[in-house]
Amino acid sequence: MARVFNFSAGPGTLPEEVLRQAAEEMLDYKGSGMSVMEMSHRSSWYEDIHNKAISDLREIMRIPDNYKVLFLQGGAHQQFSMVPLNLIRNGKADYLVAGVWGKKAYQEGKKFLSAKVVASSEDKKFTYVPKIDKSMLSEDADFFHITTNNTVYGTRLRDKDIVCHDNVPLVADMSSNILSEVYDVSKFGMIYAGAQKNMGPAGVTVVIIREDLIQEIDESVPTMLQYKIHADNNSLYNTPPCYSIYICGLVFEWIKKKGGVEAIQKINEEKAKLLYDCIDSSNLFKGTVEKYDRSIMNVNFVTGNEELDKKFVKEAAERGLVNLKGYRTVGGMRASIYNAMPIEGVKALVEFMKEFEEKNS
Ligand SMILES: *Cc1c(COP(=O)(O)O)cnc(C)c1O
Repeated sequence: MARVFNFSAGPGTLPEEVLRQAAEEMLDYKGSGMSVMEMSHRSSWYEDIHNKAISDLREIMRIPDNYKVLFLQGGAHQQFSMVPLNLIRNGKADYLVAGVWGKKAYQEGKKFLSAKVVASSEDKKFTYVPKIDKSMLSEDADFFHITTNNTVYGTRLRDKDIVCHDNVPLVADMSSNILSEVYDVSKFGMIYAGAQKNMGPAGVTVVIIREDLIQEIDESVPTMLQYKIHADNNSLYNTPPCYSIYICGLVFEWIKKKGGVEAIQKINEEKAKLLYDCIDSSNLFKGTVEKYDRSIMNVNFVTGNEELDKKFVKEAAERGLVNLKGYRTVGGMRASIYNAMPIEGVKALVEFMKEFEEKNS
């Protein structure tokens, strides 16, 4: 059986060790005589899986005690509306728009409150992340929403460049770079991330929220969209996506074994450097975004010739380097090198890029 190197932006590749363990435990999970998919979510087997996943995530992200970890459904998209519905107080919020997802979050937010774009990089096709300055931000906003990694364009916002007023909750969509580098959770009011980029299978969205932000809200808000309901029930108000949570739990254990997020970050930086160095020293390939803002998860590049880009994507796939086609509205190539992409995959891609350049220029 041959596994390919899968550079898909999402759902993304998962660690082979995790898949092997899941395969081993498929028919009989630890003597239960059944798979995790078939278990009652009220059984002690499942409760252990659920609570272990939460405590491991707390450990690897150093989540302070006054935060809750929730496992919800509806993808990151559902958070675009749950955030304003639950955090609304004064009826206004600030948004940083540095890509497709930040823009979608803002557009959804507008349905519920007075949403303001404090800065946008759309003028330059999202090829950079606008610098944030406190003077741009309202002191009475209900929250300030940012996206830490722009999956489509391949830019990121570093922890050290994030600013926010002390009394305004900072809300981050971390879907495509959670657990890839260290972020100081204590500076956020809330973090959310769909699992399918860097944590596990689709179907579960992780929400990390400071307890004081979890409040009773207007009764008219659907029960399933209230953080308080999920927080009061340890994300077991209804049937959670048990199997997805189980796989996320295995991924958290895998990260622990690798030495935690700090260790993973070093590997990620090394992987990204290999690829960006190749692009920067090439006469054929070009990066598409400001160097400082380059993502270490999603690496975009082009040849400048659409036909050649297509040929590259096709020939790479024949080599077992798959899903390198850029986002439909962006074109070119995008290599998503999430935590689970081994460095060997990046090395194989770099080798192929060099060979392709030699043959085609
Ligand atoms: C993929 C992605 C989303 C959309 O996630 P869904 O789970 O499909 O709703 C939102 N934000 C970011 C940053 C993403 O990468």
